[in-house]
Amino acid sequence: APAANNLEAFFMPFTANRQFKKNPRMLARAKGVHYWTPEGRKIIDGTAGLWCVNAGHGREEIKAAIAKQLDEMDYAPSFQMGHPKAFELAARHAALLPGDLNHAFYCNSGSEAVDSALKIALAYHRANGQGTRTRFVGRERGYHGVGFGGISVGGMVNNRKWFGAMLPGVDHLPHTHLPENAFSKGEPEKGAHLADALEGIVGLHDASNIAAVIVEPCAGSTGFLPPPKGYLKRLREICDKHGILLIFDEVITGFGRLGTSFAAEKFGVIPDLMTVAKGISNATVPMGGVFVRKNVFDGLMNGPENAIDLFHGYTYSAHPLACAAASAVLDIYRDEELFARAAELSPYWEEGIHSLKGLPNVTDIRNLGMACGIDLAPEGPVGTRGYKAFAKAFELGLMVRQSGDAIAMSPPLVIEKAQIDEIVDITAKTIKEVA
Ligand code: PMP
Repeated sequence: APAANNLEAFFMPFTANRQFKKNPRMLARAKGVHYWTPEGRKIIDGTAGLWCVNAGHGREEIKAAIAKQLDEMDYAPSFQMGHPKAFELAARHAALLPGDLNHAFYCNSGSEAVDSALKIALAYHRANGQGTRTRFVGRERGYHGVGFGGISVGGMVNNRKWFGAMLPGVDHLPHTHLPENAFSKGEPEKGAHLADALEGIVGLHDASNIAAVIVEPCAGSTGFLPPPKGYLKRLREICDKHGILLIFDEVITGFGRLGTSFAAEKFGVIPDLMTVAKGISNATVPMGGVFVRKNVFDGLMNGPENAIDLFHGYTYSAHPLACAAASAVLDIYRDEELFARAAELSPYWEEGIHSLKGLPNVTDIRNLGMACGIDLAPEGPVGTRGYKAFAKAFELGLMVRQSGDAIAMSPPLVIEKAQIDEIVDITAKTIKEVA
């Protein structure tokens, strides 16, 4: 067998760093807010895994719930059948979600949730006699997973180009973080007017051809970019005016990241559909979901007579183990009041992260809730300094997420203030060392 550190042996294309042909950093164990390498080196988890381990690693309650479920019933299909825990979970999610987003469709990942949401939007319009509404609008720098739907509406240009023909009929709203918002804290002041670009897209294609707008309320994977004040409200107004559905992709922002249950609450804007994943199960058993407003659900269910042909679902939709995990996670979020905790910690986080302003090559810092993005000035090809920072931070005992020359962080919501200090400290050292 090839040696475990042999790059050639890795066939998962994103495990290794392709740009610099570097082997992946290996992780062997996790507990609380820490990882350990196979050699036993302790790494503070500045990213909650991949924005997903909101309640911290190795939670005994989740383990117990999964084990119990495995004993009771390992699997049940979700086609013409169901199991009580799925319905109980849906009721709990409905109670937690804002507005009337009270119908759940479960799947296994964020990418599946996004593709499902796009299909539901199309089916809803068709059921309402508006089958010409087939176009979608995404946003530059949006990330919506790696399904063909998600890449198509996503705002990562190379991802779209590389895989060839995409979903036809997609436009992208402009990037919203304007230069005058550099080093802003919380929501940037300027840029709400950029939502008016949606009127331009409507003017170009006519509302009767547009199904939905999909946005991350706060773009995560492309470097953490909070929306300007009023931007999402304006999008909601324009969508309402033209009968266009609004989809929030809350795969990152859902389940407490911004100090509220969902970003919808934080920004006071309720979408028609919401996609979630990651924090829904604290990343134990893979799970995703789409929550829809009652009118969207009703539209779907009132669909064509031959609805028997209408088919969408996965073998593992509402998998009993995922439902058991997700329910135990909701207990933890509730009992430990982790969303409120995130809100309470976020000014401390903000202060710590913004103390890095003025360090060499730091060109912007953004934060909201328990997350942040730090831009570093490029050095040579894009990603060179970003990768160096990622590698140096890991060497110094901190896990950060690299996105080009930005580093993003989003620690577990159970983090302590002293651990935030440690994260800020290592980040400062990292930035100085990669200068
Ligand atoms: N949407 C958003 C906003 C995401 O951040 C991600 C994952 N980073 C996805 C969708 C895709 O989720 P998954 O990787 O679980 O397919």
